[in-house]
Amino acid sequence: MEIRENLNSFLSTIPPKVKLVAVSKTKPMDAIQEAYDAGQRIMGENKVQDLVAKAEVLPTDIEWHFIGHMQTNKVKFIAPFVQLIHAVDSMKLLKEINKQGAKNNRIINCLLQFHIAQESTKFGLDLDKAINILNSSEYKTFENLRVVGVMGMATYTDDETQIRNEFKKLVGNFKLLKSIYFSDRSYFKEISMGMSDDYKIAIDEGSTMIRIGTKIFGERNY
Ligand SMILES: *Cc1c(COP(=O)(O)O)cnc(C)c1O
Repeated sequence: MEIRENLNSFLSTIPPKVKLVAVSKTKPMDAIQEAYDAGQRIMGENKVQDLVAKAEVLPTDIEWHFIGHMQTNKVKFIAPFVQLIHAVDSMKLLKEINKQGAKNNRIINCLLQFHIAQESTKFGLDLDKAINILNSSEYKTFENLRVVGVMGMATYTDDETQIRNEFKKLVGNFKLLKSIYFSDRSYFKEISMGMSDDYKIAIDEGSTMIRIGTKIFGERNY
């Protein structure tokens, strides 16, 4: 019952147009089922093996998002059903996603992940790299993937100004790419930013998609 209550009270605090990705990583099937029964349909996982195992068992109308660092050799396992890959940060990965999309006869939605935090451990592109990708002739041949927006993670800090500035940077990148490459592409509209500790700032700054684990499913024990 706790998950249902968490979910309902959480949803009542966010604008309805912001999409909620319930981050179910490390959580058991029954916890995800509970969120599902409470009406939640978008779930996020960060390990390919877990995502595949859960998708096999849980209701088929769950929209599975992959939110973790994607290894090229694992794209094939989720390509048949994944609804959105959040953290695409290389040409090599895009190429593989397109290839697997073609094999499965579908178009796979993805987000370009930007490195906006100060921590050097977090993955992601900078603007120059993103522009290089989008300018390349190879990118233009990709028919089985669709870049629908951007994603980023702010620094893990109590400094709200810093977090806000990092989110502003992501929104700035989104707007720039939109104006250069996607102005006539209505599907390029997602800004995936905000987690349990910083989602309020993220929404304030224009997030369209927040990725929330702890506040819905409780603390994780790794
Ligand atoms: C774990 C995770 C989240 C959710 O984190 P919480 O702080 O539990 O809300 C969001 N995004 C990514 C990429 C994650 O790995």
